[in-house]
Amino acid sequence: AALQMFTQIMSGNPLSSTEIKQIHANLVKGFKSGITRPLSYRRHQLLQLARLVQENIPAIEDAVLADIGKQRQECTLTELGPIVQACLYAAENLEEWVKPKKPEVEEFRKTWDVTVYSVPKGVALIISPWNYPYILTLSPLVGAIAAGCPAVLKPSESTPTCSAIMAALVAKYLDPAAYTVILGAVEETTVLLELQWNHIFFTGGTNIGRKIAAAAGKNLTPLTLELGGEKLLFGKVQNAGQLCVSPDYVLIPRSIATPFKDAVKKAYEGFFPSDPLHPESNWSKIVNAAHFNRLEKLLARTKGEIILGGKVDENLRRIAPTVVTNVKLDDPLMEEEIFGPILPIIEVENTEEAVQIVGDRPSPLVMYVFTDSEDLKQKLLNRTNSGTLVLNDTFMQLSVHEMPFGGHGDSGYGAYFGKSSFDIFTHERSYINVPAAMEPFFGYRYPPYTDESYKA
Ligand code: NAD
Repeated sequence: AALQMFTQIMSGNPLSSTEIKQIHANLVKGFKSGITRPLSYRRHQLLQLARLVQENIPAIEDAVLADIGKQRQECTLTELGPIVQACLYAAENLEEWVKPKKPEVEEFRKTWDVTVYSVPKGVALIISPWNYPYILTLSPLVGAIAAGCPAVLKPSESTPTCSAIMAALVAKYLDPAAYTVILGAVEETTVLLELQWNHIFFTGGTNIGRKIAAAAGKNLTPLTLELGGEKLLFGKVQNAGQLCVSPDYVLIPRSIATPFKDAVKKAYEGFFPSDPLHPESNWSKIVNAAHFNRLEKLLARTKGEIILGGKVDENLRRIAPTVVTNVKLDDPLMEEEIFGPILPIIEVENTEEAVQIVGDRPSPLVMYVFTDSEDLKQKLLNRTNSGTLVLNDTFMQLSVHEMPFGGHGDSGYGAYFGKSSFDIFTHERSYINVPAAMEPFFGYRYPPYTDESYKA
């Protein structure tokens, strides 16, 4: 029945530009009428979003499996569980987050009732990529709901089954007067971007991110851009490396390169006891032919040495997890984000050279460093930059609700998760109420400005 439902939605014609504008106008109207503001409403929508996921796990997993071949366990672990957690965390903390703040003020202004109210910014647009179709769309939505903002979700056209079922579920579980999914690709997104939003939240590639920033700039719309090791190998093989926080390359001091490669080989054999390209294996596929061809060309062009994997299967769009050693900084593998199951290893003289290399390249979304050295940690903190710095594991930053997740420089701007998601969609509205009793102190500010009043 679920499959039938999304096939039906997918066969429907895409929305016309007039229909998209009408949806936007309705949400603006809904926001102005105040429907999304009451805390009870926000909490209810957050819990509904958690239910949306919990009550539809098999259907969502089917969709993710159909679109990108991601296994159920991986889907629940990396997408569905964290969404439910984020909803519950926000619902639980909401009351605390919205409390008006009373900043400490100078004695003179103590009677002015100086207050900062956390108010919803307004109607939000959330545009997401295909690689984690659910969490990258619904997790920003948690922030919008918590903040009291209506939102349009525009998931990726590259995961059509996931996007269609999301549209159906959002319509069923959330208030349609405030939350809606608009399906489509560049054409529909372009129409969306011409409209006046109060916040745009974009996750995707750096090049498209620049276009989104230009469109948002035209309307002065505030924008968030989320752009693009056994532990190390684990980081690379989730979702076949199609993950914004996947390690993109490894820098390893020459003195320990051999034991490191041996350890990677051992982990590889443990993770893939049989051929990952066997038709029956559950290894994820590459999302589409364009990305498959891009990755295949990279493998053909690299001057490094493939020590593990390297095989591809065009029909199944699969690329074996591949480890390439002896890679140089000017290798094709180092030109841009790989976004696939290929891991280049670059040997460096020492950690100092590694720090220099990272410091000279565009700021990554995340840097993973395996070390116990306090000295190296300090060097990294002082001389490099990245959205996040993780020591001695991969991905675990994503489980810490209490700290912001976001990029820096080429990896984007703005950050979310937990309270930061609420903050994104919130305007800090300053407020004072100046008592009439202050008036005697204000005589000085009124014109005419004469020599006499100046001296006074
Ligand atoms: P993408 O940038 O191609 O697409 C993202 C969204 O933008 C899609 O919804 C798409 O429909 C829309 N879009 C594409 N072209 C557009 C255009 N010309 N005008 C308007 N909208 C347009 O990204 P993708 O290929 O779907 O996802 C992969 C990228 O996302 C990688 O670079 C990855 O690093 C990045 N990513 C970043 C994060 C993060 O949190 N920082 C998370 C996941 C993925």
